[in-house]
Formats: sequence, structure tokens, C-alpha cells
Amino acid sequence: MSRIRAAVLCSFINLLTPNLIGNEMKKWLLFGLVLYSGQLLAFPRANPVPGGIAIIPVADATTTVTAPVVQYEGKRVTVAQQDGAWLALVGIPLDAQAGEHHLQAAGSLIPFEVQPKQYRTQRIRINDNNKVEPDDESSQRIVQELAVQKGIKSRYSPQAATLDFIRPAPGADTGRFGMRRIFNGQQRNPHSGMDIAAATGTPVKATAAGRVLHTGDFFFSGNVVYVDHGSGVISMYAHLSQIAVKPGDNLQQGDIVGAIGSTGRATGPHLHWSVYLNGEAVDPALFL
Ligand SMILES: [Zn+2]
Repeated sequence: MSRIRAAVLCSFINLLTPNLIGNEMKKWLLFGLVLYSGQLLAFPRANPVPGGIAIIPVADATTTVTAPVVQYEGKRVTVAQQDGAWLALVGIPLDAQAGEHHLQAAGSLIPFEVQPKQYRTQRIRINDNNKVEPDDESSQRIVQELAVQKGIKSRYSPQAATLDFIRPAPGADTGRFGMRRIFNGQQRNPHSGMDIAAATGTPVKATAAGRVLHTGDFFFSGNVVYVDHGSGVISMYAHLSQIAVKPGDNLQQGDIVGAIGSTGRATGPHLHWSVYLNGEAVDPALFL
């Protein structure tokens, strides 16, 4: 959407300056404007509900040069600049209570309001019942993996956040973020991402530029890739049939990270795509 708006702006500038400057000069001016508009407009939408994002102004960017350090429940929060302000992008936990919450910035508390949200229930049938009621060996594996995954998604790197996102794969939306899920009649954790169904082998693209943080094979997630987009913004691609990257790889937006599959706890081939802010899974649709 930001690209379309930038293109509209460009046409507008072109109309305003038909013959005043040379074509070469105009080309560079327009190129600069596209970049500027892209940066200016590539920002997630605010939706201050459990599993959503609160966007809170924390400082004046015209007088404060570096991004202020902001924390929420003891975790570093993504801070990015827009329209002359430093804005905190707070990932609100799916199990958060509605009401007043607080950010910590430079020793002071900044209050913000979390609105209530009811998510729908989804019933899912899994053929491999060990993925629903794991045996002892699997349970031990799950406990270890949850600790590893918690560490990965909570990673905070100091680079400025890249917030210009694309949908990582084509296909039907088969599982929305936040759904309460009942597997084989048993209540399990709510859905921490967006499911996109497509044929096995369909390429999966990096949603934004970043650096590969981790790749692995997890009990529930199957083959996964985690990408760090800077300042605590992390994306994750699960159930892959193949992984095409390795930790430390630098990616451009759209680079292929792997292929759609059905590894881990999956009913069929699909991509599970998660986005984390301050270690909390938030609705990826807010970035599109
Ligand atoms: Zn999923």
C-alpha cells in the first residue's frame, strides 16, 4: 500500500513540475521521494487489544536524536520514528487483561489502554494424536524447545527496525491469528500466527529485510526459520518442507527462506507465519 501511495505522490509532483527541471534531475527527485514515502508510510496499524499492537508516542524526534529505551513488563520495546516522533510499538500479550497498562521510559511510566477482544474458536482434527497428547519423551522435548523458542523470539538487536512487510506466500488464509483452538476435542494454546495454505514446495519469502536468527526442527512448529528485523521485530515461518537459509544470512525482502510443507503439528501443507514484538506474538495482518 505504501508503494502505491508513493507512486501517487510521484505523479502529483510530476504534474506540478512539468518543465521546470530536467528529466534526469526529476528522476532522482522522484526516486528519493519514493524511498522517503516508503519509509514514512511503512508502519503497522495500531490495534490495542490482546494480540494487537499499541503505538505510543514516547519522545519528540526533532529534539531527541537516538531512539529512547522503552520497556514493557521488563522487556525492551521496539521504538521507531514517524512524522517527527519516536513511537513505541508494543506487542500486547494474547492473555493480557483489558484495562490500563504501562510503559517504562526514562524512569517514568506512560499509561496506555488495552481494549478487550474476543477471538473465535477453531476445532481442528489431527491424525497423529501424539501431537495433541504427547508421550513422556515428546513432552520433555517440548519443554526444552519452548525455552529455546522463548529465547529466540525475545531477542533484541540494536539495528533500526525494518517495518515494510509483504505477505510471505500466496494462498488461502486458513487460520487467523488469535483463534482459540481445540485439537481432537482438547483445548490448546491460542493461534500465535496466520496460516496460509498452499501446495507443498511453494516458496516462502522473507516478509522484510533482516538477518536469519535461527533455523531448526521443532515438535509443534516443524522446520522453522526465524528472521530478526531489528529492534525486537522478529518473524517466524513454520511447517516448512525445506529450509533455504542458515543463521547469520542477511536477507532482502522477498528472499526465499524455504518452502511450504506440513512438518510438525499440521493438518496439511500450509505456512504458519508469526510476528513478534517484545517477545509477544502479534497479529501479522497488522503489518500488511
Ligand atoms: Zn498456524
